[in-house]
Amino acid sequence: MTPRLLLLGGTGDALRIARQLAAQHVYSLAGLGRVPDDLACEVRVGGFGGAEGLARYLETARIAVVADATHPYAAQISANAARACAATGVAYWALRRAPWHPQPGDDWRLVDGWQGAMAALARFERPLFTLGREPLAHLDEVPAHQHWTVRCLEAHPGHARARVIDARGPFTPEGERALFDEARIDVVVSKNSGGAATEAKLGVARERRLPVVMLRRPVLPAAEREFESAESLLDALAAAHFLRSTRQ
Ligand code: NAP
Repeated sequence: MTPRLLLLGGTGDALRIARQLAAQHVYSLAGLGRVPDDLACEVRVGGFGGAEGLARYLETARIAVVADATHPYAAQISANAARACAATGVAYWALRRAPWHPQPGDDWRLVDGWQGAMAALARFERPLFTLGREPLAHLDEVPAHQHWTVRCLEAHPGHARARVIDARGPFTPEGERALFDEARIDVVVSKNSGGAATEAKLGVARERRLPVVMLRRPVLPAAEREFESAESLLDALAAAHFLRSTRQ
């Protein structure tokens, strides 16, 4: 029997890979976003119960390879996966999307975590948050001199000094320019996600000489095999016969 693969997902890249997996493999999601119902492979939803729970799952489900295609800021699940694989002798492969690097003209202010971002934003008035849902937990802390624009995957009514835009990339330079104009953005707050889908905001910030408050990436565990793109991970999965016979 072909060895069984567990794909850890939650990103667009992971979904693209999951669509190619043959039926006996498993695609795992934390359950925070949409759950696809049109995949050939098995889909499971929800946490495993830490590294120990994941190790038990790997044994029970007879997994031979874990492919970690979670977000670069999903550090907990990646740490758990590395530990669980080491404990059970399962191979740990990871998609480690290359980070963005500052270009000439960029004004990036590197910070660690939410408190650091708030301190770096203190003298600005109209930040655009592109960090996911985290700002939603802080909407009652919007400083009196600020108006926030928060873009994330979740719909939320916002309030008088915070507008929440529920949108999924890819985003274009034209669309970003229109948003920056309309919301009168004077600073961008971002994770260093890497990839093309959400990069346009950085180019527009550069054009307008606006600073970007950039959250530093968390440290991720080393993997036995690391891939910089979904395509290179897909090639490796194809070579190991994990994909459907007709690649799409
Ligand atoms: P996390 O902090 O690394 O994970 C927290 C817990 O969620 C894990 O310990 C695990 O629970 C469960 N979990 C996460 N991914 C899972 C998966 N694929 N299958 C099963 N369980 C999973 O990651 P996060 O909470 O997903 O996100 C952390 C940060 O990354 C956030 O800032 C978020 O905006 C960003 N992000 C993450 C993803 C993603 O791919 N997960 C996508 C977009 C953005 P147990 O310990 O119970 O197993």
